[in-house]
Amino acid sequence: MTLTYDLKPGVTTIGIIGAGTMGSGIALAALYAGYDVILQDPFGEATDQAKEYLSKFLEKKGMGEHMEKVTFSDDMEDLAPAHIVIEAVVEHLNLKKDIFNRLDVICPPPTILATNTSTLAVTEVAAAAGNPERVIGMHFFNPAPILKLVEVVKAGQTSQDVVDAVVGLAEYMQKTPVVTNDTPGFIVNRVARPFYGEALRLLGEGVATYEEIDTIVQYGGGFRMGPFQLMDLIGIDVNATAMQSMYEQSFGEPRYRPHWIQMQKMQATHLGRKTGSGFYDYNKDGEPERPQIPAAQAGNGQVVISKGNWAPGLKPLLQSAGYELHSIPQAADTRAAFIVARQKLRRRVELIDESLSPDVPMFVQTATAPLSEIAAWMQHPQRLVGLDGLFFAFGEVVSLITSPVMDETVHQRSDDFIRGLSKLPIWIKESPALVLPRIICQLVNEAAYAHLEGVAAADEIDMAMQLGVNYPFGPLAWGKQLGYRRVVAVLEHLYREYGEDRYRVCPLLRRWARLERTTV
Ligand code: NAD
Repeated sequence: MTLTYDLKPGVTTIGIIGAGTMGSGIALAALYAGYDVILQDPFGEATDQAKEYLSKFLEKKGMGEHMEKVTFSDDMEDLAPAHIVIEAVVEHLNLKKDIFNRLDVICPPPTILATNTSTLAVTEVAAAAGNPERVIGMHFFNPAPILKLVEVVKAGQTSQDVVDAVVGLAEYMQKTPVVTNDTPGFIVNRVARPFYGEALRLLGEGVATYEEIDTIVQYGGGFRMGPFQLMDLIGIDVNATAMQSMYEQSFGEPRYRPHWIQMQKMQATHLGRKTGSGFYDYNKDGEPERPQIPAAQAGNGQVVISKGNWAPGLKPLLQSAGYELHSIPQAADTRAAFIVARQKLRRRVELIDESLSPDVPMFVQTATAPLSEIAAWMQHPQRLVGLDGLFFAFGEVVSLITSPVMDETVHQRSDDFIRGLSKLPIWIKESPALVLPRIICQLVNEAAYAHLEGVAAADEIDMAMQLGVNYPFGPLAWGKQLGYRRVVAVLEHLYREYGEDRYRVCPLLRRWARLERTTV
């Protein structure tokens, strides 16, 4: 099939099936761009709501007259004049297949047929149409009129001219298209899995509360929202269904294994904002509040800081706070010790532990070593604090691990010391790779697997994650910035501690790590 036109506004009619959240959002984005739209939904209530929504937002933009460009219908036959039909009905494979089967007759070639599915296989939907080479995924993000990203999903059968036409359409709609192959979850829903999956496991293991994890991720990692807030916004059922669908489509990939906490929330119909409660209770607590970040205080005395690069930015932070830095204990007025190495960790811990007064807190990076093992090397384990050095300088919130034998005075001193650096400490239970190294290194790993498996180019994966879910950095660029060797070391630590394939390192990450010149 050859397309004889491009899908530019003014001469193109876009048919949309399903007038729900996405269908009406896509319709608004199309109207903003000057397209003619036919919006079809068998339920009158849905089209009535869509009518209200479209006119409200078009009026707001001073584009009220564009309401004339949209036709509402409850009959699929009315889609016949469309040059492209975008399906946005509920996420049920059989319903979508049935719709594509009918569209094949109502809208013969060269009309393009697109699905907005989040997680179903576009190839399987396409197979229901007689001319599957004109079927494609056009995955918008919610809210569709605002978010720029559109994943253009190339099914096994999709022809290149259809891909080109849909990329062009997305651009005419002022969107940023990213072409991806049809693999479970495409780019964004796939690469984002660990953001939810690891957070759920941390909660399930009692490492921290959901509020604490959200605070660490948001204010320590620079994400717009924490994973539990985001699950509540998306809908816990929607998120869990995506997880389940990816788990099944990948024949049980352990990285996508759903968590019982999601299932339990669904059983209780605590689905998030839409039901008034999910992880948070919106009727009772309202929005989670921004935490109070302590004011910086001038430091005095000495701080011991070992060699090593597992806490980038810590040294200048301590220096600008006024501390004198040494690599071995020098004087009685030592306020704290930081061990930020991975190599020769035991020797460094033993040496500093022996030479410092037992009431001086010792912060040891625990992204790659278990706190309990470090404690076993020490004469004074009551002073041991597990530190997330990797993200320490980056955010306003830092996570620290309490050791079971921690001395109350040391606890207080450590807390005060960290607050004096204008960082809010959040004390969590012992857990491999704490919170941020675990979540972020698994995001980097997932992005590397997606790239390795041909889902999309590295820069497109990064762009999709920034545009689609507002990540502060693209995961692959973030991995490079952290150092691929460090990312591999964190993942290997998780793999050792859990013994699960979920944490196996992507071979591509290992290759990139080998090319780095630094040691960690
Ligand atoms: P929704 O429940 O808000 O809307 C679905 C619409 O489909 C409803 O208006 C319903 O009346 C209509 N519908 C049901 N049966 C139909 C039929 N036989 N013919 C025509 N219309 C029918 O759902 P949504 O959130 O808009 O999701 C729609 C699709 O978009 C799903 O495939 C979903 O996975 C995908 N998606 C959703 C989001 C999101 O954040 N909500 C984001 C991207 C993609």
